[in-house]
Amino acid sequence: MAHLMNINVPQTLLKKISKNIILEEEDFLKVCKIFRQEAKDGLNKDKTKRKSLQMENTFVRHLLDGAECGDYMALDLGGTNFRVLLCKMRNGELRETKVKNYNLEKEVLRGPSDGVFDHIANSIAKFLTEFNIQNNNIPLGFTFSFPMSQFGLNKGVLVTWTKTFKCPDGVGKNAVEMLEDALKRKKVTKVKVVAILNDTTGTLLAGSYLDHKCSIGLILGTGFNAAYVENAANVKRWGNEEMGDTKQVVIDTECGAFGDNGSLDFFKSEEDFLLDKHSNHIGSFTFEKLFAGHYVGDLVRLHLKSLNSAGTFLSEPCEALKQWGHFNGRHVTDIEKGHNVEEILQNLLKVKVSKDDCLIARYICRAISIRCCQLVSAIILELGSIMERNHVTVAIDGSWYRHHPKMKSDMEKILKEFDKNRVYEFILADDGSGKGAAFVAAVATGLEKD
Ligand code: BGC
Ligand code: MG
Repeated sequence: MAHLMNINVPQTLLKKISKNIILEEEDFLKVCKIFRQEAKDGLNKDKTKRKSLQMENTFVRHLLDGAECGDYMALDLGGTNFRVLLCKMRNGELRETKVKNYNLEKEVLRGPSDGVFDHIANSIAKFLTEFNIQNNNIPLGFTFSFPMSQFGLNKGVLVTWTKTFKCPDGVGKNAVEMLEDALKRKKVTKVKVVAILNDTTGTLLAGSYLDHKCSIGLILGTGFNAAYVENAANVKRWGNEEMGDTKQVVIDTECGAFGDNGSLDFFKSEEDFLLDKHSNHIGSFTFEKLFAGHYVGDLVRLHLKSLNSAGTFLSEPCEALKQWGHFNGRHVTDIEKGHNVEEILQNLLKVKVSKDDCLIARYICRAISIRCCQLVSAIILELGSIMERNHVTVAIDGSWYRHHPKMKSDMEKILKEFDKNRVYEFILADDGSGKGAAFVAAVATGLEKD
């Protein structure tokens, strides 16, 4: 897959910078194989067989049926922005959406968790007032983009905070209850939380609204994760009584944590290990730390820092390269878009940069992006083969994917090369994690009526 590297770097320079970021085919296939085995093990009844994939039952067994009618509220918490939405559905069609951002202050992310939920409740109250709907009874779907143990469509117990969230409490509690308590504190009584879901589930539903063949929902933003439609019979964790007459169910793989058992250490670089050591949740969420939007800036920076120490990058030691968070995903996408690299580097590093330095920075950004595409494609390929479908539509949402100029086409190339049997199609589920929550609320309300 080295052919995806479309930058001409002179051989002498390449020798110095080549650090095997891009996976060799053999290692790529090994990642695919491990994922496949762990995905199967994750659905096993015997807990001791499960490895690093949670494979959570989302309790979403129905996609939209075209009869949805009503106004639904949705929350989207856990990505770059926190949003409140109101979606008006008539005869299964989304007629109108109102959206407001109410971003959280950095300090709130560090807890206590009541602060997070109070912020949500306050935002809901503001939203209701702004649109003058305080007196309406409104069902709400809550996208909570963290790993949960789900016990029903509206019961999700937080397994761990991830990404930028690091509250000291909240783990082990039902997030719906935490939200309901905050709504009570704020005296919001007319909003009823009918469903809690992961953002990948939301994206899958939003995707199925656009294309009924959609069977994978994927988030490639601050964090990374995938959900897919599984045959209920394969979910060995379910007993007969839980399964009832369910044929299919959406499974949240929680593959951001893939590799937490060390199964992917074989290809990780020194920089990957360093990044983990410095992260909010050390030793966990291995897979998403290899390429998700919250981490890529620092990854690129760490590689450049190593090259700087080795005397290959820049002609002098550079302090700015030591600063965590100094590079972010946006810098990487800008460089990938072909923006003026010299200017970007000079602004960030405050030192003189040469033509070779620019070439090196472009090379590292490209290599990290290609590895991202390889790892995400490995998941898509294996889910495609698990589902045994000829046509796999993947709905994607997330800022890192949306702003990246080459990710879609690079992944398409990889999928084509490694799976000749299936057709893969990507659709951008714009604000899927938000709208999807309203869709799940609509499905949930529909089921109540049945
Ligand atoms: C969370 C997932 C979520 C993903 C993308 C991960 O850190 O564990 O639940 O889907 O980020 O937002
Ligand atoms: Mg999101």
